Amino acid sequence: MDLELTEDEKDIRQWVRTFVEKEIMPLEQDVLARERRGERGLPPEELKQLQDLARESGFFGVQTPEEYGGMGLSAVMAALVEVELGRSFVPFRFGGYADNILFHANDAQKEEYLVPTIEGTKKSCFAITEPGAGSDARAIRTSAKKDGEDWVVTGEKTFITGGTEADFVMVFAVTDAEKHKEGRTGESVTCFIVDRDQGWTSDQIDTMGEWGPAALTFDGVRVPSSSILGEEGKGFALAMQWIGRGRYLLPARALGGCERMVEMGMEWAHNRETFGKPIAERQAIQWMVADSAVDIEALRWLVLAAAWQVDRGRDSRQAQSMAKLYGGVRCNEIVDRMLQVHGGMGYTRELPLERWYRELRLLRIYEGTDEIQRRTIARNLLKGHASVRGHLG
Ligand SMILES: Cc1cc2nc3c(=O)[nH]c(=O)nc-3n(C[C@H](O)[C@H](O)[C@H](O)COP(=O)(O)OP(=O)(O)OC[C@H]3O[C@@H](n4cnc5c(N)ncnc54)[C@H](O)[C@@H]3O)c2cc1C
Repeated sequence: MDLELTEDEKDIRQWVRTFVEKEIMPLEQDVLARERRGERGLPPEELKQLQDLARESGFFGVQTPEEYGGMGLSAVMAALVEVELGRSFVPFRFGGYADNILFHANDAQKEEYLVPTIEGTKKSCFAITEPGAGSDARAIRTSAKKDGEDWVVTGEKTFITGGTEADFVMVFAVTDAEKHKEGRTGESVTCFIVDRDQGWTSDQIDTMGEWGPAALTFDGVRVPSSSILGEEGKGFALAMQWIGRGRYLLPARALGGCERMVEMGMEWAHNRETFGKPIAERQAIQWMVADSAVDIEALRWLVLAAAWQVDRGRDSRQAQSMAKLYGGVRCNEIVDRMLQVHGGMGYTRELPLERWYRELRLLRIYEGTDEIQRRTIARNLLKGHASVRGHLG
């Protein structure tokens, strides 16, 4: 067993680390100030400038295949990159990304949607959740009815990330009501790529974080059959593939934030004196630091083990669910502890801790809630698909 990174992995990580320290962290105060004014922390033009700067050094499309101009990095490397990005709360990500399911598009769709998404000239969003169907995605009711050569899409989607800015949506609709009623979701749902100017509308939803997902309305939106992504009736598998695309990446990003928060907490504890001593000398504070460091270390290995399995083409679903669940729960505990270490200052908007506190809460909800991850993990064990001995057996 070798738990060391390769020299290449260390070099790439170092490049990202330096980029974050030199280009991203100096923006933090501006981001906080803008958000306090109710504006977007990182305006699109500034994000684009940063992405272009990274691209000049070849940093573009972290996991996008090289044939599409990306770097085609491994899952382990992508996780290491996310950890470094997560050390800052600035909502930056490298350019050159496209949703994994767009790679299933036909040649014409690739030209029209995949390539522009990678280049950043078009923005996508993914819409399965509905007011009556979240964790239970099989309960979707948005329908697409055949009318001549066209399909007519009707229904409502909710909590769609990027729904306010997207140029097009990958929307999931029931195309075979009979099979859907019988629970044959694998044959009853189809994914359509629909441009905004084909008629869907969006309304932003305010949240406790800086995210502004949207509710999307499809009021009889007519689309041609050429809008189907993949095959008619085979959309549900695509939706699951999108959701499962990188469950290890979400906790990886949170992990970076937690590392930074514990560093901030330790610095504060050294400098803040009460009753004649720095609080760092109090056991109550030391235990919060120690517990957080253990959680971070455990999460690091859950994330890397899941990514390692992805790279080897193994069935990584159990490992990914574990990383997502553990990350969601523990990172929320860590931010709470580090906010506590900072006392009243932790609660103010002068420090980013309250921002992280609001943002990390989402990790326990989207892309599979804690309860749904537990359900997956337990089912895999109880049905014998996974072992408590883990991948080493
Ligand atoms: C900011 C944000 C961004 C999002 N982005 C997207 C997006 O881009 N695209 C998209 O399609 N969706 C998106 N979502 C939707 C998200 O995936 C759902 O909110 C999530 O899956 C939970 O569904 P729900 O909100 O309907 O909760 P529900 O499914 O109604 O769950 C409510 C509670 O019941 C629990 N629960 C549900 N079923 C069970 C069970 N069987 N056993 C035990 N407990 C259970 C849940 O864990 C939760 O605690 C986003 C959500 C948010 C908040």
